[in-house]
This record gives sequence, C-alpha cells and structure tokens, in this order.
Amino acid sequence: MSDFDLIVVGGGIVGLASAREFMRAYPGLSVAVLEKEPAIAGHQTGRNSGVIHAGVYYAPGSLKARFCREGSADTMAFCREHGIPFDQCGKLIVATEEAELPRLKALTERARANGLDIEEMDGPELARREPHIRGIAGFLVKASGIVDYRAVAEAMAGEITAGGGTILTGAEVTGIEESPAGVSVETRRGRFTAPHLVACAGLMADRIARMCGVAADFRIVPFRGEYYRLAHRHDHIVQHLIYPVPDPDLPFLGVHLTRMIGGYVTVGPNAVLAFAREGYRFGDVNLRDLAEMIAYPGFRRAIRNNLRSGIDEMRNSLSKAHYLELCRRYCPELTLEDLMPYRAGVRAQAVLRDGTLLHDFLIEGTAATVHVCNAPSPAATSAMPIARHIVAHAATQWKLKGAPVAP
Ligand SMILES: Cc1cc2nc3c(=O)[nH]c(=O)nc-3n(C[C@H](O)[C@H](O)[C@H](O)COP(=O)(O)OP(=O)(O)OC[C@H]3O[C@@H](n4cnc5c(N)ncnc54)[C@H](O)[C@@H]3O)c2cc1C
Repeated sequence: MSDFDLIVVGGGIVGLASAREFMRAYPGLSVAVLEKEPAIAGHQTGRNSGVIHAGVYYAPGSLKARFCREGSADTMAFCREHGIPFDQCGKLIVATEEAELPRLKALTERARANGLDIEEMDGPELARREPHIRGIAGFLVKASGIVDYRAVAEAMAGEITAGGGTILTGAEVTGIEESPAGVSVETRRGRFTAPHLVACAGLMADRIARMCGVAADFRIVPFRGEYYRLAHRHDHIVQHLIYPVPDPDLPFLGVHLTRMIGGYVTVGPNAVLAFAREGYRFGDVNLRDLAEMIAYPGFRRAIRNNLRSGIDEMRNSLSKAHYLELCRRYCPELTLEDLMPYRAGVRAQAVLRDGTLLHDFLIEGTAATVHVCNAPSPAATSAMPIARHIVAHAATQWKLKGAPVAP
C-alpha cells in the first residue's frame, strides 16, 4: 500500500499545475506535492517578469509555440475564475537600429506563422503610441499581458488542498528509488511511496532526473536575470511592454521595460551566468553547483560558443552605467537615478552535451516517472498545457486509479 497515488516534486507553477490537472482528471486520486522550501513558488515562479506571453518567438510546431498560445488563454481564464488581477496590455517589439530590421522582419513572419494578430509600425507611429520610446520600426502583439505568477501558483495550491491533495513544504527530495511497484522517495521529512512520480524541480531538474536514471543527457545551467525597478515617477512611462529584437541564437529575450501588475515598471532581465543555482546575488557561489557545471562538456562548449555575449552580460551586470545603456537604446530619457534595486531571478536553462542551449521544453520519463527537464520562459504562461500534456502521457502509459474525466 503506497502513501499516495502520485507524488509531484516541486511546488513551482509547473508542479502545482500538474498536481491540479491530475486531480481534475482523476477525481479521488491522492496527490502529494513535495517542495523543499518553507513555501511554494519561491524560485522561478515567484521571481520572473510576470508576462503572459502570446507566443511570438517560438519555432512553429515546437512545444513552446503550442503550449504558449494555449497557456496564455488558460492563464487569463484561470485569473478570471479566481479573481486574480491581470492586464492584457499588449507588447511592442522595437528595433532601434537598421541592422535589426531583417531580424524584426523575420520575427514578424514568425509571429504571423504562430497565428498571432500583430500590428506593424514605423518610427513615427511608435512615437505616437509610446512618446517615451524611440525606435525605427516595431510591431504590437495585442495578446500579451501581465500577471503575478505567485498569485496564480497560490490559487492553484488552494485548489489542490481544497480538493484533498497534500502540499508538504520543507520536504527536499534527496533520493528516489524506482521499482516495478513505483517510487520510494527519501525527503527531509521522511520517506514516501507512490506508484508514480512527476518531477518539476526547475533549477534542480537534472539532479532529480538523474536520481531516476532518465536517459536525456543534459545539465541545468543557471542564468541570473537581474532587474531594476523604475522610480515611481515613471510608473506610467509606457502603455505596453517594450521589448528589444532578441538574438535568435539565444533563448533569452533581452532587457525589456515591463509594466508590473503592482502598478510599477521594471527593466530587465539580463542573463548572467550564475555561480550557484539559487544564486540571486552576483557574489553567490556554490562549489557543488560550480564543480558540476565545469565537469560537464556541454557547459564548456556552451561557454566557448557564447563567449562574446557572456562577457557582455557580465559587464552589464557589474556596471549599472552599462546596464542603463541597454535601456536607453529605446528609452533615452532614463538616468542612473531612475534605476532602483529590484529582486533577481535565476533561469533554469538545460544545456545538452554538444553545448546546445535547449530552446524548447523537454519532458522525458521512465516507467513510473515523468520529468519536466527544461521549462524556461514561457513555462509560467504554459504551465497548464504542460500539465495537460503530462496527464495525457500518463493516461496512455500508467494505470491510474479511476477513469480519466474529460476536461
Ligand atoms: C528572470 C526570469 C524571468 C521570467 N519571465 C517569465 C515571464 O515573464 N513569463 C513566463 O511565462 N515565464 C517567465 N519565466 C520563466 C518561468 O518563471 C519559469 O519557466 C517557470 O516559473 C518554471 O516553473 P517551475 O515550476 O518549473 O520551476 P520553479 O518555479 O523554479 O519551481 C521548482 C520548484 O522545485 C523545488 N525543488 C527543487 N528541487 C527540489 C527537491 N530536491 N525537492 C523538493 N523540491 C524541489 C524548488 O524549490 C522550486 O520551488 C522567467 C524566469 C525567470 C528566472
């Protein structure tokens, strides 16, 4: 007899969405979420830009393209249902130099290929819509919005506990043994058993995957995203989210001006290699994290392949003046005094053995387990479709208690 029918590792938005989705699909299933921190949503879910992405950037046909479109609608519907504030304020992607125009054009085509309703603009039209922003061309994505993902995660946790599920905090998973009967999970709060396990451990995804012998060869590399909050006099400086044209080779979107649901504006995040997986400050170093990264050939290849941008990111992190220059490209009136301290986040980015920074979501499994191995942005937006994907996989591979109920 197992302690639970299903164990979910990780109380971030992907783990909570997964637990919730299993409970909706299989009423009566006993589900436990094991979270190592004293509270849920303490890592990526509680430390991001809060953007409900529309799905502009992602290769058509990729999981990201599919799940982001669906997830954007799901997130807004969930917020309506739970009375969580959100704002579909739209996003402007802005080119500031001639050299960016071909990439802007390619992005316009990709947005259309992804089925998005966009509005192209020249420089004067941009200036009319956003008088504080300077650009030579751009396009508006009306479907983008903003929300507080911690509030979304807390509402999901509320549904789980109200439905009879268990959320155990302070329950760091330190070992997993898989047998034909299921899994036996060692945690700081004791040992728990279940026939099945879903792992959504974010920055620790590779470690949990290795405990279960998942075949995918990847490591999580942490990239810190540092932000500033704009001084309150700039709370209304923009009407939309303002994004630069990103480098298509990197899975990061560039420093953007983000209207936050709390009524203020942030700039960020950059993407600095962190020396600790949960290293929220520049000086944070974790020797185990660092040693594991350096020992992995894929990490060393990724560093060699992206040396130039890596050095630029470090420089912009160390110098507020350099960071300001990134913002002034499209918002020239900002000054050093406008940049106030704000919390950083750390992205969990999977790197493959050949040095590829994996853009798409990666979900792999063993007989009794499913692992969300790579769930970088826009996984907060996409958490509900990711959860449905996992439940659909389970329905074909696992014998769960009860018959699945159609959503
Ligand atoms: C700076 C930044 C900006 C972003 N901006 C956006 C955005 O605007 N829009 C968007 O859609 N996405 C954004 N993202 C991405 C988004 O935040 C993440 O993709 C999403 O939160 C991933 O959720 P998760 O549940 O997989 O991971 P997490 O939120 O990191 O949750 C994983 C959980 O697992 C727990 N855990 C780890 N190891 C163990 C263990 N051994 N035992 C028990 N528990 C464990 C952790 O404590 C953590 O709570 C951003 C991310 C960052 C960092």
